[in-house]
Amino acid sequence: MIMEHKQSSVGSKIQTKADLIQDLDKLWGSALGEIELQISKPNFITWFKNSQLIDKSDNTAHIALPNTFAKEWIENKYSKIVLGALRNIDDTITKVKFLIKSSKEFRIKTAKQNKAKADIELAPQQSFPEFKIDPETNLNPRYTFETFIVGKSNELSHAAASAVVDEVGSKYNPMFIYGGVGLGKTHLVQAIGNGIKQKHQGRLKVKYVSSEKFTNDVVWAMRNKRMETIKEKYRLIDVLIIDDIQFIIGKARTEEEFFHTFNALYEQNKQIVISSDKPPRFMPELAERLRSRFEGGMIVDIGLPDYELRFAILKSRLEEKGVSLPEDVVSLIASKIQKNFRELEGVLNRILFYKKVKQLEVSSVIAESIINEIIQEPLKNISPNTLIKAVADAFELEVVDLTGSCRKKEVVQPRQIAMFLLRDVLSLSYPNIGDRMGKRDHTTAIYAFEKIAKEINKNQTLNQKILMIKELINKE
Ligand code: ADP
Ligand code: MG
Repeated sequence: MIMEHKQSSVGSKIQTKADLIQDLDKLWGSALGEIELQISKPNFITWFKNSQLIDKSDNTAHIALPNTFAKEWIENKYSKIVLGALRNIDDTITKVKFLIKSSKEFRIKTAKQNKAKADIELAPQQSFPEFKIDPETNLNPRYTFETFIVGKSNELSHAAASAVVDEVGSKYNPMFIYGGVGLGKTHLVQAIGNGIKQKHQGRLKVKYVSSEKFTNDVVWAMRNKRMETIKEKYRLIDVLIIDDIQFIIGKARTEEEFFHTFNALYEQNKQIVISSDKPPRFMPELAERLRSRFEGGMIVDIGLPDYELRFAILKSRLEEKGVSLPEDVVSLIASKIQKNFRELEGVLNRILFYKKVKQLEVSSVIAESIINEIIQEPLKNISPNTLIKAVADAFELEVVDLTGSCRKKEVVQPRQIAMFLLRDVLSLSYPNIGDRMGKRDHTTAIYAFEKIAKEINKNQTLNQKILMIKELINKE
């Protein structure tokens, strides 16, 4: 069982959990190897693709399958083969149970594993200083301007946020900060709160609330017919910080209540700070009256971090933790993990954890294999045409522009990007790519792929653009 380890040292306890998860994967991998020998290749691929051994308890192996159809088929046709293959490797298994990935059972069972995985990820942090959230303000003292590292992608939002501390409630009201996941919105809005608290020595009442908390307060008040408590609670605040406002938007009653709270504070020149995953103009459900309020204040965004900023953040984390890694490993992490800081920290923690457990210095080869394990991208099963369309959309072009013969610069690069992605994401052959991109020669496809592959190492803007297109494709 996953959770039954009581060893005293954190390291050995967690390693055992990690081993168990890996053991399940290994066991299933070996069993699949046997199953593959006993049935035809197409059947094997059709039915066992995306299968997973998620638990082994009470002599029963629990295997998760993507849908009911696969479940029924395998149950009826292959359950003996599956059991036999598993028993050949582990003879304590006497039964096999199949379940589908969307079922509640699957969620419960994998929650166990996820918890173990989360423990592994959290483990390295346990020995580092813990920060207590201030119950009065809900602020985490770790999130300050001092610990916020400034780079090109966040310098404007950082400057605006610092200005709010000096001009509370007047010039920059509301302050609206938007950006993608894990790019530092929560850190920055809380830094404003902590900054004001410090500067005004408790004279101003600061409150940080997640949108979820605000929604819960409204729901509670409605259910208990105590709407006045919301008014009392929120309207005495001097600085209201609402994080992730996108979760409030569209929930009629909560949005309504937020609007009233907003107005009450705004009219008394109280400072309001809002974070969101997108700017007000891209929030279709946002009521017009709130949109114009938001747009009347200061709107800034946090962009994707460049290599220098990612590198600087890693260095500062290492310093905070009082540990070191070879320079080439830090640079490898910074170049490979590009999406956000949360992922960056996760990878760093994993590598430090490895170092701690193995008591070995981490080489760049090992670091690379750890990184690859973590960032394995989901299987892409989109069609080449969808991909080409996504590239066209991203550059506000038509598909025919990309497949056509126009030599204008605005078209040539997107065309090369499309060819690059057809290779990079879908692994199409060069002749196939050339064919799809307007019957071009395969050497043109090779040239395009190599050109873009080289460019993205040098050109951050291009790199970001491509990452964004990949994200778009992933959402298809
Ligand atoms: P978001 O709210 O945008 O999803 P967070 O503020 O939670 O992102 O940031 C994710 C992590 O990255 C946090 O641990 C945060 O402290 C850290 N972080 C983000 N931006 C910076 C920065 N500029 N300097 C230092 N740490 C940062
Ligand atoms: Mg956040």
